[in-house]
Amino acid sequence: NTPQNTMDAYWMPFTANRQFKKTPRIMKAAKGMYYTSDDDRQILDGTAGLWCCNAGHSRSEITQAVSHQIEQLDYAPSFQMSHPLPFELANRLVALAPEGINKVFYTNSGSESVDTALKIAVAYHRIRGEASRTRFVGREKGYHGVGFGGISVGGLVNNRKMFGPLLPGADHLPHTLNIDLNAFSRGLPEHGVELAQALESIVGLHDASTIAAVIVEPLQGSAGVILPAKGYLQALRDICDKYGILLIFDEVITGFGRIGNCFAAEEFGVTPDIITTAKGLTNGAVPMGAVFVSDKIHDTFMAGPEEMIEFFHGYTYSGHPVACAAALASLDIYKKDNLFEKAHSLGQYFEDGAHRLAELEHVQDVRNYGLVAAIDLKSRDGAPGARAFEVFTECYKRGVLIRVTGDIIALSPPLIIEHSHIDELFGTLAEVIQATA
Ligand code: PMP
Repeated sequence: NTPQNTMDAYWMPFTANRQFKKTPRIMKAAKGMYYTSDDDRQILDGTAGLWCCNAGHSRSEITQAVSHQIEQLDYAPSFQMSHPLPFELANRLVALAPEGINKVFYTNSGSESVDTALKIAVAYHRIRGEASRTRFVGREKGYHGVGFGGISVGGLVNNRKMFGPLLPGADHLPHTLNIDLNAFSRGLPEHGVELAQALESIVGLHDASTIAAVIVEPLQGSAGVILPAKGYLQALRDICDKYGILLIFDEVITGFGRIGNCFAAEEFGVTPDIITTAKGLTNGAVPMGAVFVSDKIHDTFMAGPEEMIEFFHGYTYSGHPVACAAALASLDIYKKDNLFEKAHSLGQYFEDGAHRLAELEHVQDVRNYGLVAAIDLKSRDGAPGARAFEVFTECYKRGVLIRVTGDIIALSPPLIIEHSHIDELFGTLAEVIQATA
């Protein structure tokens, strides 16, 4: 049973598997802004891993904290017992969260955080005697991980189409770009309040008494950095309040400083009832997620009827000591290096770099907010995604790692990025995009 080829046994995550096997890209090390590839080249990381290594790679502070923790206490169950770190971490986390959000539930990934948030929403209403509130409202092109809950409320067709019928009772708000293709403009698109009115239509169709929660990414990442239209998130908040619907912000990407504040909720001035996080929580070094919950929800669970103890939700690795140690060390770095500010202080320079690409012939649209950007390329006739994949391959050859989905390039570099890296990133991209046919 020995595999013929050393790459045969590992079944990688599905997307672009077949292409990868033809041209593997294997990283053997990483430090700061750069990966080292297996052929010993330095590759500038334009995507912070997968939107997660906000403080750059292999930070010694995290390495030390993790190795110390494994020696001290490698594991303690999270049921009926615990250890000091989840408490310490939760205190640190709620100090960063918006007002009124003071409880933290631990998971191991963004997908689990989303699943947890959806389950909390349904149970919250049930405890309050509103058992009919089981429906969810997501958003077209939303990405909420790959659990059945997450793909049900998510709106990316490739994540959903093979796995139906999915969770019953999920509707989707329309996508910002349906009404507002904002080619080359800077700042947030218009018409947010009108766009949010679609929630009223969904409520009208199903009745508020059936809807548990609305879940949105404040800024859609995987769809290609889709910025919230002005007033959109506040209008959703207002409609949710009017009907007793919970509002969940999926901040798996935006959490921990990606767009200039610790949370997008703060950046956009709108407080949801639940925030899902992962990725930057541990700087990508150890898998961990956290769900931030309002006092209102937590207190409802705590005051619920006795049969509540029959409820069950949690993971073997919830609040894992090593993950907590990595998270605490990450928060220390974010504070010491003032990284949450970085997206504000470097945002303009990054924006100018991104928008210079708008002058190129093959570029269709450029969007950015803080240190995230998307560059939509014009698709070649009959070959969607081909141009972006060519750009990705050529950038990698020249030592720059970007992320592509379809013909969209997404950039989300580590927040430790400096002007010289930004120049390298956009300089290489400009040359490579220009060179495509
Ligand atoms: N939600 C959002 C907004 C995400 O971007 C992601 C991951 N890209 C997830 C959830 C899922 O996270 P994970 O891959 O850790 O399960």
